[in-house]
Amino acid sequence: MKTQNKKDAKRDNKIIQLEELSWKQIEGMDKEKTIFFIPISPLEEHGPHLPVGTDFLTARDAAKEAIKILNQKKPELTNILFPAIPVGYTKMASCFPGTVSTHVKAIKTIVYDICSSLAQFGFKYFVICTYHMDLGHLRGIYAGMNKAMRKYKIKISEPWGPYFHGKEVEKREPKVGFDTKKEVHGGFRETSLMKYQYPYLVDESYKKLQSIHRDLYSPRFIGKTFKDIGIKEGYVGSPARADSNYGRWYFQETVNTYVQSAIDLTEGKELPQLPKHTKMIMKSLFWL
Ligand SMILES: [Zn+2]
Repeated sequence: MKTQNKKDAKRDNKIIQLEELSWKQIEGMDKEKTIFFIPISPLEEHGPHLPVGTDFLTARDAAKEAIKILNQKKPELTNILFPAIPVGYTKMASCFPGTVSTHVKAIKTIVYDICSSLAQFGFKYFVICTYHMDLGHLRGIYAGMNKAMRKYKIKISEPWGPYFHGKEVEKREPKVGFDTKKEVHGGFRETSLMKYQYPYLVDESYKKLQSIHRDLYSPRFIGKTFKDIGIKEGYVGSPARADSNYGRWYFQETVNTYVQSAIDLTEGKELPQLPKHTKMIMKSLFWL
């Protein structure tokens, strides 16, 4: 019955959600072939035109989409969606209502506790799906992942950080006719993404927002809030240029990194790594 249910779920292209299973069903899963997708991103303001769940919704939806693709592409794998966790460190956006920032150590604890709770029953593969690229947040995520991988024989991958901070998006994106390097928060990319995924959640005022630029990852802005550095509306980039076709491409890129990561995990390939300079800055945030 148990196996039958699982097969039915795959045939119907349904997503297996951990919270809907009993411990008996979970125990009966093939630990060598089961992958958990764990979406974790904070609620965070994304300008006057986008929902605070922009990162949270994207991480969760991309995980769901990746699971659907894997169910077709790799039917021998069991892909399980962990309930999306609205948690993350976002000091920078904490000066706007609706942003919920968690201590970095809490993120480490959450990631470690989730992975180890499952690892102690033999589960081995985990994909952390986060869309929030703040280095303090990633510091917490990676600290939790590394601690869990030291304690158990498990593999945990976080694919979007290496993609984003490795500037893959700039290398691969379709030509849009302007410099996209400065599109960092609630700008062209994320507004495009939301126009594609949730057009009814994008406020029409985005068309009139002026381009605003700051290098948010510059060491001199570390520990500062948006308002400290003169960002009054909470976005950095050019939201008015948003284009849902670009949004579709960008969303699919995220999905592809999750899919590839899951395949690489189970095939024993090397996990994606954050670039060296990103790791160095992340380490320097010792007070977090
Ligand atoms: Zn975002």
